[in-house]
Amino acid sequence: MNKVVLVSGASRGIGAATAVKLASEGYKVAINYKQNYQAAEYVLAKIKLQGGDGALFQADISDESAVVSLFAQIQQTLGPVSHLVNNVGVLQTQMRVEQMDAERINAILMQNVTPYFICAREAIKHFKTHHDPKLCAIVNVSSAASRLGGANEYVDYAASKGAIDSFTTGLSLELASQDIRVNAVRPGCIYTDIHKDGGEPERVDRLASLLPLGRGGTSEEVANAIAWLLSKQASYVTGSFIDLAGGK
Ligand code: NAP
Repeated sequence: MNKVVLVSGASRGIGAATAVKLASEGYKVAINYKQNYQAAEYVLAKIKLQGGDGALFQADISDESAVVSLFAQIQQTLGPVSHLVNNVGVLQTQMRVEQMDAERINAILMQNVTPYFICAREAIKHFKTHHDPKLCAIVNVSSAASRLGGANEYVDYAASKGAIDSFTTGLSLELASQDIRVNAVRPGCIYTDIHKDGGEPERVDRLASLLPLGRGGTSEEVANAIAWLLSKQASYVTGSFIDLAGGK
């Protein structure tokens, strides 16, 4: 099988580590990014250096028509998508719910929830064209925040990840009869740029000692779980969640 994986938001952080890991496992990797061409190019260079295959695809994943054309471009360049990692998630400055307005909340939901649905919809169309669709799989990147609630920081973000957990369960049930697996990972405090967007770049260091394992996690640790969930080794796993949150 020609394994072609789309990793959304693969220029930095968890997406970048996942792209590199999956390339090392023989996937052709569609590296999606929004604006940071240099970072995306670095990921592709790393993949090529280790003998892997992939290509860059700029697309704003929250724009439905851009997603449709993204899948068409991947099909033309690498072949139909056989695996999807829904990874893009954003957050805004830390604040309490009583300070949030509808514009902020809607922006979070539109960026974190709807694109996972749209990318999955387009991926399923590609899966159906594979000679062995039952080897196709989806991993959604959720968050420990879906369980913990994000209080005093970003309950809107946490709620968007709660939606992703429900989406994972529902889609896994819809696709189970076709043997297409859908799972999620729920990272906790991982060293990436996302915390800067929340207004606290050193957030992981602040929280690390409060975690049972006493440290923050790495993008590579999350990537390992994503790779396993996509692989044949996880062939009896669907509708499941792997928590990568240092024991919290
Ligand atoms: P990150 O380091 O901030 O990286 C963000 C990535 O997403 C970049 O590649 C960025 O592209 C891309 N991106 C953002 N908006 C996009 C859009 N509209 N279209 C296409 N690409 C877009 O993020 P991260 O921390 O790795 O987070 C990845 C996932 O893990 C998210 O779903 C997040 O919620 C989840 N997560 C992270 C943590 C953590 O502690 N880091 C914990 C729990 C869950 P550009 O480079 O072009 O901007």
